[in-house]
Amino acid sequence: MSIIANKMKNCPECGRVFVDAGAGLCNACLRKEEEYEIIVCSYLRDNPGSTIRQIYEATGIKERTLMRMIRMGRFLDAGEIKYPCERCGTLINEGKYCEKCGAALQNEIKKVTESLNKKMQNTAGKNGSETYSTIRKV
Ligand SMILES: [Zn+2]
Ligand SMILES: [Zn+2]
Repeated sequence: MSIIANKMKNCPECGRVFVDAGAGLCNACLRKEEEYEIIVCSYLRDNPGSTIRQIYEATGIKERTLMRMIRMGRFLDAGEIKYPCERCGTLINEGKYCEKCGAALQNEIKKVTESLNKKMQNTAGKNGSETYSTIRKV
């Protein structure tokens, strides 16, 4: 019982409560998504390199749904889909961010990690020497 309860969640598509068997969607939406996949794949074969907006306009499938399907790698075999970088809106076909934003974010993360590391080292160093001097005093 409790194991099933742990897997109960709201379907991100329709909001219904369902038991997640790993697909992340309820059965009805999963089936719908499989249909979408076929529609989008055949659209992409005729229109390679389409943007999400173009696919939405042609198929009526919500951009949010398309994004989720892209993230799940649903259209990897069908060809490229272009969608906007989450940071600047440049059209990309891989990951969450364009190359520029990806590099900028990496830099920011590096800076944060470096300063965190320095802080940790400083604290560790101080603590270490304090312990050391205490031991010596004793
Ligand atoms: Zn659903
Ligand atoms: Zn960007």
